[in-house]
Amino acid sequence: MDMGIAGRTALVCAASKGLGRGCAQALAAEGVNLTIVARTAETLEATAAEIRRQSGVEVKTVACDITTPAGRAAALAACPQPDILVNNAGGPPPGDFRNFTHEDWIRALESNMLTPIELIRATIDSMSARGYGRIVNITSSAVKAPIDVLGLSNGARSGLTGFVAGLARKVAPTGVTINNLLPGLFDTDRIAVTFEAQAKAQNISVDDARKQRMKTIPAGRFGNRDEFGRACAFLCSVHAGYITGQNWLIDGGAYPGTF
Ligand code: NAD
Repeated sequence: MDMGIAGRTALVCAASKGLGRGCAQALAAEGVNLTIVARTAETLEATAAEIRRQSGVEVKTVACDITTPAGRAAALAACPQPDILVNNAGGPPPGDFRNFTHEDWIRALESNMLTPIELIRATIDSMSARGYGRIVNITSSAVKAPIDVLGLSNGARSGLTGFVAGLARKVAPTGVTINNLLPGLFDTDRIAVTFEAQAKAQNISVDDARKQRMKTIPAGRFGNRDEFGRACAFLCSVHAGYITGQNWLIDGGAYPGTF
C-alpha cells in the first residue's frame, strides 16, 4: 500500500536506536525526508548512514538531549516545519514511589510529558496552516495498565495522554491528527536493561528472565522495532486521516481486557 507521504518531512526524536529508529526507518521507506535526533553523535550518524543507504531519502541529524530547551531549539532549527512529528525520549527509571524525589518527578515530566508538548506547540500551527500534519507520541502500555514499579512513567505519560486527547479534537478540522502508540514489550536496549535488573533481583540468568517475561505475552514473543515503525508510518499516512486522539496498544495481546 502506498502511504501517500513521499516527499514529506518528519522530525523523529530519540531515533538512533529502538522504537524511534523503527519509526524513522519505516517513514524513510515511504520516501519521507527525515531529521533524526539522539544524544550520542556516533550512534546517530551510523543510523542516519544506514537509513540513507536503505532508502535514499535526505536524513539530517541533530545530536542533543531533546528534553532540554537547547536540544529542542537545535532540533527545531534543523526541521522548523515538519509535516510529521514523532515524539520519543528515554523512559524514567523504575522504583518505589516513596523514594522518588521532587526532582525525579520533574525529570520524568520534562522527558515524557512537557518535551512532547513543547515540540507540538512549536510545530502544530504550521501543520494546520498547510492542511496536513501527523503527530505520533511514543508512550507506553503503562498508560492503559499501570506497571507498579514505573510510577514515574505511569504518571508523566498519562499527563501527556490527557492533554493530547483534548488537543487532537481541537485541530482535527485542520487535517492534523495526533495519536499515541503504546508499546508493550519490544526487544530493544531499554528492555534488555530491565531483564538484567530482574535477573539480578531474582538471582536467575538473563536468559531465564527473558523467558519468564515472554510467557506473559500471548503472541509468545517480544515485538520488534520494524513492526512498531510500520504502525507509526500508517498513522502518518494519508489513509489515517480519520484516526485521531487514539491510543494504539501494540503488545502481542498482553493487555487482558476486551477493549
Ligand atoms: P532504546 O533505549 O532502545 O532507544 C532509545 C533511543 O532514544 C536511543 O536512540 C537514545 O539515544 C534516544 N534517547 C533517549 N533519551 C534521549 C534524549 N533525552 N534525547 C535524545 N535522544 C534520547 O529505547 P526504546 O525501547 O526504543 O524505548 C523508547 C521509549 O519507549 C522509551 O520512552 C521507553 O520507556 C518506551 N517504552 C519502551 C518499551 C519497550 O518494550 N522497548 C515498552 C514501553 C515503553
